[in-house]
Amino acid sequence: MGKVHEIKGVNYIRGEAAIRLGNHEVRVLVSGNELRGDYVILASGAWNSIITRGTGLRVPLLPYKCQAAAFMGRGISNVIVYDYVLDIYMRPLGSVIDNALSRLGLSIIVAGDGNSRITEPGREAGVDREFISEIRGKVRSRVGEVLLVGSRFGYCEVTPDMRPLVGTLGLDSLLLIGGFNGYGAEVGPALASAVVDYVLSGSWPDYARPYLIDRFGNDWPSTWDISVEAHELCV
Ligand SMILES: Cc1cc2nc3c(=O)[nH]c(=O)nc-3n(C[C@H](O)[C@H](O)[C@H](O)COP(=O)(O)OP(=O)(O)OC[C@H]3O[C@@H](n4cnc5c(N)ncnc54)[C@H](O)[C@@H]3O)c2cc1C
Repeated sequence: MGKVHEIKGVNYIRGEAAIRLGNHEVRVLVSGNELRGDYVILASGAWNSIITRGTGLRVPLLPYKCQAAAFMGRGISNVIVYDYVLDIYMRPLGSVIDNALSRLGLSIIVAGDGNSRITEPGREAGVDREFISEIRGKVRSRVGEVLLVGSRFGYCEVTPDMRPLVGTLGLDSLLLIGGFNGYGAEVGPALASAVVDYVLSGSWPDYARPYLIDRFGNDWPSTWDISVEAHELCV
């Protein structure tokens, strides 16, 4: 049996979770423990479509490889940029070294673009060379000479209309929150707050309604292309 840990009054068990549906209820299996509750909230990111496999549930979500690179340069303004002509975003690194660098007139920015590929978590070995060369070219064309100082990749997930989703899935007690693309830090907190509202009051706040999973009905293709992220305000 997995050990139950506690942080700030919340109990948790480390391990890989699986869900099972039956008898109008959801069971969560993790590290030899079987958990039940009034609600189960599925928030496993790019793994949402994988964890629901075998349950009979369909979700309008696909996982993809998401990449970003960090560049150091001189005189780069410290703001978040979404460039819909070059199709890139750039943001400050947001690290403790930002202040020290700025005293030298330097800054590090993180940049990414829409050059993404549908693929399952675990299938990729590293950041693509083509990605680095494309993003470096685009960043240089916008801010001038920069030096590549790092790159990372991970997995994100996408809905058919590029917007995140929340809602119930099959059973009223099974909630799903996901489809955050590469901008989960922007809309994620507002939609997580909407899930809390739903659990406490039984209804969705108005701002969350455009994100409800019901908008897809039961009608979406088996695969689709990744388009441009909206980076919309979620208020
Ligand atoms: C390289 C890169 C750069 C990015 N840059 C930005 C950025 O600048 N700004 C921004 O807003 N967003 C950015 N993102 C996107 C952002 O990280 C995602 O939108 C966000 O993390 C999605 O949140 P999530 O909680 O849905 O999923 P995740 O953050 O992926 O969390 C899901 C968690 O569930 C766990 N999990 C999955 N399956 C199981 C299981 N069966 N059992 C137990 N645990 C499980 C995973 O290990 C993971 O910890 C970037 C992503 C990448 C990969």
